[in-house]
Amino acid sequence: MQRAGQLVGAAAMMYFANSAGSGTKSDQRPRRSTDALMPLGVIGREELSHELEDRLGEAQDGNRPLALMWLSVLQSAGAAGLQAGAPSRSLLRHCAERIAARLREGDILGYMGEGDFAILVGSIHHPADAISFARSLVEAFQRPFLEGSSPLYAEVDIGVAVHPNDGELPVRLLRAAQQAARHAAREMPARRARLVFSSETLNCRQQRYVQITDGLQRALEREEFMLHYQPMLYLPGDEVAGVEALIRWQNESIGKVPPDEFIPTAERSGAIVDIGKWVLAEACRQARAWQRDGMPVRVAVNLSARQLQEPDLTDYVSGVLEDTALDPSLLELELTESVYAEPETAISVLKRLHNLGVRVAIDDFGTGYSSLSYLARFPRDTLKIDRSFISLTTHSDEVAAVVGSVIVMAHALGVETVAEGVETVEHLDFLRHHKCDLSQGYLHSPPLPPAELEPWLRAHREEHARAPLAAISALPEQVPGDDQPPADAEPPQRRD
Ligand code: C2E
Ligand code: MG
Ligand code: MG
Repeated sequence: MQRAGQLVGAAAMMYFANSAGSGTKSDQRPRRSTDALMPLGVIGREELSHELEDRLGEAQDGNRPLALMWLSVLQSAGAAGLQAGAPSRSLLRHCAERIAARLREGDILGYMGEGDFAILVGSIHHPADAISFARSLVEAFQRPFLEGSSPLYAEVDIGVAVHPNDGELPVRLLRAAQQAARHAAREMPARRARLVFSSETLNCRQQRYVQITDGLQRALEREEFMLHYQPMLYLPGDEVAGVEALIRWQNESIGKVPPDEFIPTAERSGAIVDIGKWVLAEACRQARAWQRDGMPVRVAVNLSARQLQEPDLTDYVSGVLEDTALDPSLLELELTESVYAEPETAISVLKRLHNLGVRVAIDDFGTGYSSLSYLARFPRDTLKIDRSFISLTTHSDEVAAVVGSVIVMAHALGVETVAEGVETVEHLDFLRHHKCDLSQGYLHSPPLPPAELEPWLRAHREEHARAPLAAISALPEQVPGDDQPPADAEPPQRRD
């Protein structure tokens, strides 16, 4: 993945295309500005049109897909005491940063004026890949920006058009994307980010949905899944406490599909039950192999709420533990708060699992129901604080206070706390200060395939033996594997 500044190359400045004083909007409207607001590589309207023309030529020659996204940004009402309406310069800069952090080599970001951005997405292999990219943008706009310590919200309408489906001429593609964004603004209920695909893109989406659903049916027998593992470290000592198993899927015709995209489909079709069984068996086999090799690590496995409804889940888990001869305390099952939707079933199943000696973790804490009464009634050993909170701890006093209190509350309930998405040394300092028990995130390591994790574990153990504290002082310069994170604090792209 490339850093924002290297992405587009054409112009290392933000370019506001509207001339000052032609004004129909308020004072906050973006103006033409040649002073480099930041080296984000955002290009102007004209340059983007030229790029689009060139790219369409290349796309036609090479028969490659190309997507165009139109993003109209508005400032949310009431945000930081500002008026709703045209985005301020500062908000536009925040938006450009957040978009740029998600771009890849071959993508271009342009500012079209009047609060509108356009993205030329050249990094896709199939028109439908534009859909996962668009989703990642929607996700990006759910979180507020911070102006000092006040949250600043953008509302964005995103329209997506793809070549060749929506047109082969620049003007057609631009119009299709812009119209889709307008449609989003007119027809969809008010939300932070509204996304509309042009009707042709939608066909791709349906195609991709069908491809994923079909592909999932045979993915297990074709051995298309594998597990990557991400370390979790004890604080403040830095020893490895365990690893989280995260599934990866690569299909011959669809390519790599991120879990966020295929797990919901697998849950709807019921395929998650067999996939989940495979994950459990494979993770336990691997944990036992590491234990035999003198590297005993706890392995955390994600369970879908759907799996809890299977009557044979407890028997299956106990069978796997028996077959692999894995010590049950080396297995942790992660569940999100969505299991609270059917609390009685969940409580009884989790009690049975707990009785096997297996640990139970509440994943993504803070994003779901977060009911304290459920938390008190549930069998649980670990609470994983969602990364959306961790990323804000160093920017917002309010969020920092919430995270600090969650840690205190968890400790009062005798529960271990894990911080997810730890990306910077500042996050780590905060977590140490607040006595969070474990830390997981790109700062330490991205999820790695076993062949890369093993040397990582060994090297970490040696380094830790030499320098027990302060083993981590900087982001790794080069991290192997597919999950390599960006070197900045923005969430990584989930498009591989
Ligand atoms: P999760 O269980 O909360 O897993 C953590 C996710 O955060 C992983 O995404 C991981 O790659 C990512 N991550 C780790 N460190 C950082 C960081 O420092 N910054 C940021 N921005 N992200 C970080 P991944 O692997 O794409 O998985 C996404 C979700 O898919 C998981 O969220 C989990 O809910 C689900 N999932 C993954 N594997 C399985 C599985 O085997 N079964 C089930 N049911 N769900 C799974
Ligand atoms: Mg998890
Ligand atoms: Mg999580």
